[in-house]
Amino acid sequence: MPYDVEKPDEQWRAELSPAEYAVLRQAATEPAFTGEYTDTRTKGVYSCRACGAELFTSETKFASHCGWPSFYDPKDTDAVELVEDRSHGMVRTEVRCARCGSHLGHVFEGEGYPTPTDQRYCINSIALRLAPEEG
Ligand SMILES: [Zn+2]
Repeated sequence: MPYDVEKPDEQWRAELSPAEYAVLRQAATEPAFTGEYTDTRTKGVYSCRACGAELFTSETKFASHCGWPSFYDPKDTDAVELVEDRSHGMVRTEVRCARCGSHLGHVFEGEGYPTPTDQRYCINSIALRLAPEEG
């Protein structure tokens, strides 16, 4: 499926820091409890660090204590793309930015968190950029 934002790999590499590139374009995972947004409670909108698409809001962010920013729902259902991921001997659901195809993290469900969806979008901080709400 073509994405609205498509760039040659060299361009992503030039635009992103090496750590951002590793996560967004190579599906790496930042170490737990190291990301800048893990426990952030600031109100605002989280956008894709690669293309700027609005992906999540502080409204659905919750304290999962898993070491990564966790959301129970994306801002809009079609803001993200879900892809089956069978790497590392597990079957997981990868979450990608629907606009540029960059890797964001994974979504898990049925874990029993007291949220409306019982889903946990486990997203790398470095894949996101928070725009704090005005005022
Ligand atoms: Zn994107």
